Amino acid sequence: METKINPYKDSLLVRRLRRNPRVSVLDLDNTCTGSETSQIQMHEVAHGNGAVVYNTARETGMVMSSEALEASRKYGYARAAPHLEIDPETGRFVYAKPERVRRFAGHLDPSAIVGFGGSLLLRQPDRGYAYDGEFSELLGGLDFRKHVRRRFEEIDFNGDLLGALSKLEDDTAFNEGRTDVQPLDWRFQFNPEDEQHKTDLKLRIASHFLEMGERALIDFRDESKPGKPCFYVVPSLGTKEASADHLLRRALAEARVQPEDVSLTIADDALTGLYMLRDVLPEASAIFVLPGGAPIARHLMASSSLYGTSFAGEDVSWLLERLTPAAATPGKYEFKMPGDQPNRTFYIADEAVEGRESVDSLLALQARGAIYSV
Ligand SMILES: [Mg+2]
Repeated sequence: METKINPYKDSLLVRRLRRNPRVSVLDLDNTCTGSETSQIQMHEVAHGNGAVVYNTARETGMVMSSEALEASRKYGYARAAPHLEIDPETGRFVYAKPERVRRFAGHLDPSAIVGFGGSLLLRQPDRGYAYDGEFSELLGGLDFRKHVRRRFEEIDFNGDLLGALSKLEDDTAFNEGRTDVQPLDWRFQFNPEDEQHKTDLKLRIASHFLEMGERALIDFRDESKPGKPCFYVVPSLGTKEASADHLLRRALAEARVQPEDVSLTIADDALTGLYMLRDVLPEASAIFVLPGGAPIARHLMASSSLYGTSFAGEDVSWLLERLTPAAATPGKYEFKMPGDQPNRTFYIADEAVEGRESVDSLLALQARGAIYSV
């Protein structure tokens, strides 16, 4: 039976913020990933600093230990546990406890989870996670998926639009063991053939929603890598930046802490996360790290031949025109915030700690005291 509560009131996030207004909002894939040792080390560093929020496109159940997932059932968490291993006999995905899967070491049970496509989940005193149900309603509730899918069908001609959906969006694939997770409630992933196809699909979807008077319902986020176009259709508030901003604002109000008093550390390697630099809790002082090995970095580094060019078809000038290099520290920049919000520090790890990738670049920066001050 579902227990209805104010998910913020006794949450670990609020309790930690009350004690110490420092919080990390971290992406996982290609940001906190690396060797098992490095992942665990990063876990200790981040949790030692303050509250930790993972803001990830991973299925929310992939960020919970099996015990936490079971404890979440009473709060209405109804999603199937992810199937993390492949049965060698059948080649199908089967259940495994995340805490026994080495690649998840150091990535489980944060203070809160921002699921990109999965709403907001807050850790409770009994270790379970409770949804911010009001936020899920703002995302369109559990009807979002059905409704948006119907709109896609209306503009699909012989599968030319639906055929570009990722296989993760196939409702039967999970049950048949062909994918590791159920389709997410608030996100559709498209894998177009090329950039032209990507632009066409986005335009077609946007125009149809506009015509239906529903353009405000959805937003697009690009997760393309060179040669691998990819974009998401999400609820307008379901972007990484809008979700994280909502979570922190709501948690700070509950903790009676002013956003101006918060120290925020954000790390993300992709375009879907870069907007967090500007749009998450703009009143707070913040450091953003673009981890080593992020393909977008070369579009932001003056020494690169790709400097200033669009990244997989996406314009990066909104970011570049606000960056000023910090004298004498390679890879460190000041990001000019809009209005009179405090400017933020931006690190491009490929310049600051050259040769280090993902989690190892974060650890190398931390060894210099660049991410968390003691
Ligand atoms: Mg990532």
